[in-house]
Amino acid sequence: MENDIYMMVVTPHPDDAEFGVAGTVVKLTREGKKVVYVVCTNGDKGTSDRNMKPEELAKIREKEQLNAARLLGVTKVEFMRLPDQGLEDTPEFRKALVRLIRQYRPEVVVTANPYRKYMWHRDHRVTGQVVMDAVFPYARDHLSYPDLLEEGLEPHKVREVWLWGADDANHYSDVTDTFDIKIKALGCHISQVGDIPLEMRDRLRDWAKMMAEDQDYELGEAFHRIQMRY
Ligand SMILES: [Zn+2]
Repeated sequence: MENDIYMMVVTPHPDDAEFGVAGTVVKLTREGKKVVYVVCTNGDKGTSDRNMKPEELAKIREKEQLNAARLLGVTKVEFMRLPDQGLEDTPEFRKALVRLIRQYRPEVVVTANPYRKYMWHRDHRVTGQVVMDAVFPYARDHLSYPDLLEEGLEPHKVREVWLWGADDANHYSDVTDTFDIKIKALGCHISQVGDIPLEMRDRLRDWAKMMAEDQDYELGEAFHRIQMRY
């Protein structure tokens, strides 16, 4: 199960990964590549329903995330269950990510761009930053966590990091054929998007068109891609 993982997607909340990278994920899994999801927070603040209990919402959102992941062909979903709107750049969060990176040994890690300007969710900023740090240098260096090494979790060199929500995208993925499944996967997050009203579907399509603006295909997802040099 933990072998040959091509991509690890680290999402701050359940549903961010679907907005950011789902079209690419399903394209990869259709090619037979394995993708794992890591969901950082429990998402228990994501509601405008005054009657919804946070613990109930957290349960609902895990189920929604599992449904979306199943649709996309994701191999495994890891839930870290950290507090929604409460992520901090802590040694514990960083180590937990290093543990997962060393366990699954992905070639590519995808997450939220921590350097996006102005309006951006704090959990997205923190997740992106801690992922970058976990990948380099902490996952790479054997002396970073001697206890992980003792457990048999050898250092790992991630080859690329892709950031969604990039102001300066330099890597594009053709999702023309997988866009409909991306929308279906987003539709699994019923507590967040309802039944994906038409305007939202149109907005997402316009957004995907914009991201493929300079490409020879219709719909895209865009990232800032960092090729790691060790
Ligand atoms: Zn989010």
